[in-house]
Amino acid sequence: MSTLEVQDLVKRYDGRSVVDHVSFRIEDGEFFVLLGPSGSGKTTVLRIICGLERPDQGRVLLGGEDITHLSPRQRNVGMVFQDYGLYPSMDVYGNIAYGLENRRLPKDEIQRRVLEAAEKLQITPLLRRSIDTLSGGEQQRVALARILARDANVFLYDEPLANLDARLRHQARRDVLAVHRLRGVPSLYVTHDQSEALALADRLAIMAEGRLQQVGSPNELLERPANLFVARFLGNPPMNLLEGQIVHEEGGYACALGKLRLPLDAAWQQVLNARQEPAIIVGLRPREIVPPWELEQTGTPDQLCRCSARALLVEALIGEIEVTLELETAQEPAPRLVAVWPEPEELRDLPEEGSRLQIGIDTRHLTLFDPHSERALQVE
Ligand code: ADP
Repeated sequence: MSTLEVQDLVKRYDGRSVVDHVSFRIEDGEFFVLLGPSGSGKTTVLRIICGLERPDQGRVLLGGEDITHLSPRQRNVGMVFQDYGLYPSMDVYGNIAYGLENRRLPKDEIQRRVLEAAEKLQITPLLRRSIDTLSGGEQQRVALARILARDANVFLYDEPLANLDARLRHQARRDVLAVHRLRGVPSLYVTHDQSEALALADRLAIMAEGRLQQVGSPNELLERPANLFVARFLGNPPMNLLEGQIVHEEGGYACALGKLRLPLDAAWQQVLNARQEPAIIVGLRPREIVPPWELEQTGTPDQLCRCSARALLVEALIGEIEVTLELETAQEPAPRLVAVWPEPEELRDLPEEGSRLQIGIDTRHLTLFDPHSERALQVE
């Protein structure tokens, strides 16, 4: 069984913690993504795991064994870097075989592994070509074939697709997942690109300023962001965040946005009873705002709160429209929302810029954040 675990990692440069008490565990066969803005400490975590950096504190465990103080060579990790780390003057065969020769495997075993890995990544015809004659996409496959040929206990990827154009990137993602499934060991993939992270990850961890913000499946993080950083960072477009006030009225709690009242489900009662502070931030996902042409449909839930809005901007996406709305709440300035709706079947339903609309907010799907701690309020 191969699992990768980091426990309480700390790394400081010039007295500043660039990795700040980071812990996570990757299960056997799991594809785990570390996602965060540039400079958040992702690569440093990766370099600690492969042994290129020593942590100031904390441990790295591979298959339960403490490898924190082993050299990179002793760790048996397979790594793909952004620049692939290939030897440009060697041919493809030599590059795939290189790590195996270093480990003094018999020649026929090396040949078997190189041919098998090349076959899996469909680069057999390239084996005698030198690296500097290959395209970016082909080089990327050679780097993947190289880690596939080794029986590494863990695969680490540091933004390996950053240099590819959009079309190749799509294919390369599939190659990365295919390699991962063939070996079934833990994979850790570092990126600042959320679409890549969401497409690849079984689970992902969001990192900011050296700290893990939240760990979970793509859906968990999109639907239940733990704090405002995650809510702003994830989702395309990200969650709408509006400043409101908690009010207690007949029938229970509601969230007030100016004159608009969003009644809150009874499930919130306990957590809101315990709060002194009325100020709140309400999170609304763009795809959960109900378009005008669906308001009258049968099966519309009771929890749907209708409100007036003005369409400021209507942008066509593929099969969807993105509408920037100004809510009519009598607040100054009027709060803005972005909604993403399936393209309406009837052309006459297409909102016009500047027009007034009735939209629906399903109050079961609200997320509430404390404006001071910036953390999401958890329903019991
Ligand atoms: P990311 O991979 O998320 O872009 P990094 O782990 O590369 O972030 O870097 C995190 C922070 O640590 C950055 O502010 C970077 O400048 C700093 N850093 C990384 N390596 C060194 C180093 N060898 N010396 C000093 N600062 C470093």
